Amino acid sequence: MDYIIIDLEWNQCPTGRDQGEKDLVFEIIEIGAVKLDENRKLKGKFHGLIKPQVYREIHQKTWEIIHIDKQDLEQGESFETVVKDFFAWCGEDYRFGTWGPMDLIELQKNMEYFKVEGAFQKPFFYYDIQKLFALETEGRKNPHTLEYAVDYYGLEHEEAFHRALADAQYTARVFQRMNEGMIKRYFSIDYYHNPKSEADEVYVDYGNYSKFISKEYGSKEEALKDRKIRRLQCFRCGSTVRKRVNWFSNSVKKNYYCLGYCPEHGYLKGRIRVNKTKEGRYFVVKIVSQLSKEGAKEIRKKYKELEL
Ligand SMILES: [Zn+2]
Repeated sequence: MDYIIIDLEWNQCPTGRDQGEKDLVFEIIEIGAVKLDENRKLKGKFHGLIKPQVYREIHQKTWEIIHIDKQDLEQGESFETVVKDFFAWCGEDYRFGTWGPMDLIELQKNMEYFKVEGAFQKPFFYYDIQKLFALETEGRKNPHTLEYAVDYYGLEHEEAFHRALADAQYTARVFQRMNEGMIKRYFSIDYYHNPKSEADEVYVDYGNYSKFISKEYGSKEEALKDRKIRRLQCFRCGSTVRKRVNWFSNSVKKNYYCLGYCPEHGYLKGRIRVNKTKEGRYFVVKIVSQLSKEGAKEIRKKYKELEL
C-alpha cells in the first residue's frame, strides 16, 4: 500500500464569505501530493494548478498566504481535469495522509459541488499527520503548524511554505520521521460521507480507546434512545458494562458522557457526539476510552455539578 500525502490551496469569495456560494466556501486552486511506498520511500510527485470557475478574483488573504495571482491560475486546468488526473495518479492501493483533517473535507466538498465522482474507500481511513505529530511528541492532540514540525525534526527549509507541492513534501518528510508502530495504529476516519445504514457503520479498536460511527437517524432523540448507542462496551473484552453514571450532557448539549466499570479492565468513559448532516439527518460518533480512578472521580464531579 502506498501513502499519498496531499496538500491543497484554496481561494474564497473576494468580497467576503457570506457573499459567496453556500456550498462552496473554499474553491480549490492547487493540488500538491507526494507518493510514498509502503516503506515511506519517495515514489512520485503530483502537482496541479486549477483555473477557478466560481471565484475568479483572488481574495486578499489567499494572495498574502500563497502568492498566486489571477494570471498564474489562468494557466491552470479545470477542477474536474486536475482531480481526475490526480486520482489516476494515486493508483489502486493507497491511503491518504494530510496535515489536519481540513484538506480531505474540502476536496470532497469541491468534488460534490463540481459533480466529480471519486472512489473513496469505505470506510475512509486516512492519516492526520498533524494529530500523529502531537501524539508522538506530546501524547496530546495539541495542533501545531507544519513549520513547527519541520523545525522539530531539524529538516531544511528548501522551499517557501504554503504552496501545495512544497507543503505536501514537507508533510511527507515529517511523516517519514515518525514511529511506524504509531502510524499503523492511529489512523483517522473521515466521515464527511457518513454511514447511512447499519451495514456501513464503522467500529475501530485503537487499543486504548474505541470509536464507533453510527448509521443515520431521523432525529437526535431517536439516536439517543437507541440501545446500541446507549450501550457502553468494554473494547478490551467486548462485554457490555454496567454504568456507574448514566449518559448526561454538558451545558451546551454538544457532548454526552457516561461512566462505566468493567470488572476485568477497570473504569471506562463513554463520549457521544450527535452530528447533523447537510440533509438534516443525524449520526453519532461514540468514543469509549480507558479511565483511571481519578478520571472516574472527575466524571462524577462533572455530573454532580451539572445536576444542580
Ligand atoms: Zn473488559
